Amino acid sequence: YAKELGGNQVQFFSPHIYAKTVRRMMLEKHLRKALEKNEFVLMYQPQVNVIANEIVGFESLIRWDSPQLGRVSPLEFIPIAEETGLIYSIGKWVIEKACAQNKHWQNLGLPKVSMAVNLSSKQFYDRSLCEQIANILQVTGLEPQYLELEITESMTMDVQVALATLNSFNNMGLQIAMDDFGTGYSSLSYLKEFPIHHLKIDQSFVKDISVNPTHAAIVNTIITLARNLKINVIAEGVENEADLKVLQDFQCDTVQGYLFGRPVGASEVPEIFAKFARESVQSSDA
Ligand code: C2E
Ligand code: MG
Ligand code: MG
Ligand code: MG
Repeated sequence: YAKELGGNQVQFFSPHIYAKTVRRMMLEKHLRKALEKNEFVLMYQPQVNVIANEIVGFESLIRWDSPQLGRVSPLEFIPIAEETGLIYSIGKWVIEKACAQNKHWQNLGLPKVSMAVNLSSKQFYDRSLCEQIANILQVTGLEPQYLELEITESMTMDVQVALATLNSFNNMGLQIAMDDFGTGYSSLSYLKEFPIHHLKIDQSFVKDISVNPTHAAIVNTIITLARNLKINVIAEGVENEADLKVLQDFQCDTVQGYLFGRPVGASEVPEIFAKFARESVQSSDA
């Protein structure tokens, strides 16, 4: 009987589930105030053309610095923002901030490159999104070709609506990237129908590409597919020279990963441009 009770207790008062529930409640409570309290930060990670050794863009990656919870990963709070609907205001803030920041760098005289922004599913299916983006571009003065919107395969489940929104983006002159490619339930035929400019190979395939022949084969196939469809490929999560070498053998020219730079705060970006400029001068001298 005691054992049975113990079993029940484990079921109903599991410390693990309890801790998870409390954490989730705390996150939600503080997330509701995070925007007005100015607790979000954008970090920027360079995307590099390895042939020219030149920065072609940055991806903006949100961080939440909560006084109560510390720095919280987007992997933890974006799903909560989605469930609660907070993603609409947070997502809008991200687009505004990213566009204003990119325009600011251009005004400083830095090379004009694209700024990629991750969209979440609810945001993507928000009927006012295109108008919202058009307004932000107008207010910030950023030209549309310098804003890139990242969606994932799982967000295109409603094919008709997704296609209509993507066509609008495309007609507005925006860049479109398919993020985390290879991890979702992709229908390859949609790749042909959707106006997609960039395909980002998921880092889970890239990370061990030099030691995992299966992943190498998958990545090689994705690169070939994209080339045939005239879609640019970006390899995510490039961490070492061995991975880079394999990608270059497969003729993948654009990469993003710790090897070329971790996500940094806005103030560090001018120095990153300067570093790449110095390095390409050196390599053309050599
Ligand atoms: P993602 O869009 O696929 O972004 C790439 C993630 O990989 C980022 O993690 C980045 O810091 C990390 N990363 C880049 N290079 C490397 C590498 O060489 N090695 C390793 N191990 N990791 C690398 P992060 O910043 O933690 O973001 C995680 C995810 O959260 C993003 O994945 C994206 O799905 C989501 N996210 C980030 N910012 C936003 C946002 O503003 N809005 C929305 N809706 N989602 C966002
Ligand atoms: Mg992304
Ligand atoms: Mg990704
Ligand atoms: Mg992702």
